[in-house]
Amino acid sequence: MLATILDAPGKPLRVAELDVPKPAPGQLLIRIHACAVCRTDLHVVDGELTQPKLPLIPGHEIVGTVAELGDNVSRFRVGDRVGVPWLGWTCGECSYCKNGQENLCDHAKFTGYTLDGGYAEYSVVDQRFCFPIPDFYSDVEAAPLLCAGLIGYRSLVKAGNGKRLGVYGFGAAAHIVAQVAKYQQREIYAFTRPGDDEARKFALSLGAVWAGDSNELPPVKLDAAIIFAPAGELVPQALKAIGKGGTVVCSGIHMSDIPSFPYSILWEERSICSVANLTRRDGEEFMSLAPKVPVRTQVETFALEDANEALSRLRSGKIYGAAVLVTHDTER
Ligand SMILES: [Zn+2]
Ligand SMILES: [Zn+2]
Repeated sequence: MLATILDAPGKPLRVAELDVPKPAPGQLLIRIHACAVCRTDLHVVDGELTQPKLPLIPGHEIVGTVAELGDNVSRFRVGDRVGVPWLGWTCGECSYCKNGQENLCDHAKFTGYTLDGGYAEYSVVDQRFCFPIPDFYSDVEAAPLLCAGLIGYRSLVKAGNGKRLGVYGFGAAAHIVAQVAKYQQREIYAFTRPGDDEARKFALSLGAVWAGDSNELPPVKLDAAIIFAPAGELVPQALKAIGKGGTVVCSGIHMSDIPSFPYSILWEERSICSVANLTRRDGEEFMSLAPKVPVRTQVETFALEDANEALSRLRSGKIYGAAVLVTHDTER
C-alpha cells in the first residue's frame, strides 16, 4: 500500500510502499478513502508534540470501509463505512477511564501520533474506537468531522450555554462550530488573523454576526470564547472580550506561551480551561447532531502523495475549511 511517513520531526513526509497491515484480535483493517489534515498533524510533524511513534503514518480523521476483521470483532462487518478519530485506545482501568473521562486516560494511545494513522491506503484500528458515518455525508465531506468536528463540539459544550460566542482562529474546527452554534440560535463573533480579509469573509458566509481582527474587541461583551489558533497571546485578548462569569476555552493540543496579564481581566469569575482529546460519547453525540444541523464541511482535496503540500498550505493559513487527503479508491 501507499503511505506517507514521518521519519523524524522537522523532516518532510516520505511517500513509501508498505505491506498492508494485518488486523490483530479486536481490530479492523480499514481501506481508507479520505483522511482530513488537522493542525495537530502539523504539531506532530513540526516536533511541537514530542512523543510520536517513529517512523509514523500521521492522520487521525479517517473515513474508510472495513476490509477485513480481526478475531473477536462484533461491532462491524466487512464493507461497513467507519470513521476513525484521534482517540485510538484507552486502558479502561485508570481512574479517568472509570470516571467517564477516557479523554484523559493515563495510558491512552492516539491515532496518527502514538499509533499509525490515515495518511495511507490502509490502517488497522481498534473496533471500539470507530464510529459509523452518517449516510448523509460523502467520504471527503465526513473526514473533517472526525476531529475538527468532534473537538469543536467538545469545545462548544465546554463554553457553556451563553448566546454570544467568540471564536479565535477560523479554520476547520471553527467553520463547523459556527454552523452548530447558529443551529443552537447563538451568535458567533469571529476573530481572524489581522488583515486576513478572506478568513473574515469566510466566517461571515458561515453565519458569523461579526468578524474582526484578533487584536480587536467585539462590539458587545461575549459570554464565552473558544481559541482554536495556537497563539497564547490570544488568551488575555479573549479574557478582555468576555463578560463577567465568562469562559475562555483553549481547544488546541499545543499553544505558544501565554503572556502575563493583569488579574483584573480574570476577576469577576471569568475562567480559562483547555480541551483535551475526546471521548467516544462526544463522537456519538456529534455524529447524531451533525446531519440535523446540517453541518456542511468545506474541503480542499489533495492526493495522498501531496500530503506535504497540504500541510504547508495549512501552516501558512491558506486553507479555508479543511484539507482532505484522498486515496485512489475514494468514492467521492
Ligand atoms: Zn485509562
Ligand atoms: Zn485533530
